[in-house]
Amino acid sequence: MTYRPNGVIRLVQYGLKSEVLESSDIWLCMGCNTCSTACPMAIDIAAVMSALREMAIEEGVRIAEPGIFNFHQEVLNSIRRYGRTHKLEIMIRYKLRQRDFFSDMDMGLRMLAKRKLDLRPSKIINKMQVRKLFSAKDRTAQDKNNEDF
Ligand code: SF4
Repeated sequence: MTYRPNGVIRLVQYGLKSEVLESSDIWLCMGCNTCSTACPMAIDIAAVMSALREMAIEEGVRIAEPGIFNFHQEVLNSIRRYGRTHKLEIMIRYKLRQRDFFSDMDMGLRMLAKRKLDLRPSKIINKMQVRKLFSAKDRTAQDKNNEDF
């Protein structure tokens, strides 16, 4: 990370919007909550990072870590399709997006051999409920865009 969690919070306090939204830090955060639980001011930093990622997408700023963004997108697409994640499909689609076909191939094959990757997706019964959540989120984003004009 360039700024680290406390630095990101400081950028937010100073209102340095483009610096924070264009930083790699908000994408490198994996939401482990270590900083949130240790923060003496009880700031939920992981949630702030997540909100900043959403803002970066909504505002169309240059994504500092497109690979991580693509991975997030594929995880969300999988949940939208099946109601849960299908790891093999996520990795295949992610690799296609990245045009990176052979790195991690050995690990993928080992995971397949150990049955850590299901060939077929497991689906929840009521997929429509999950799709409704995504539709509601899409509508909210659309309403916000309309308000901005
Ligand atoms: S939530 Fe975890 S990964 Fe994210 S900034 Fe805090 S310590 Fe780092």
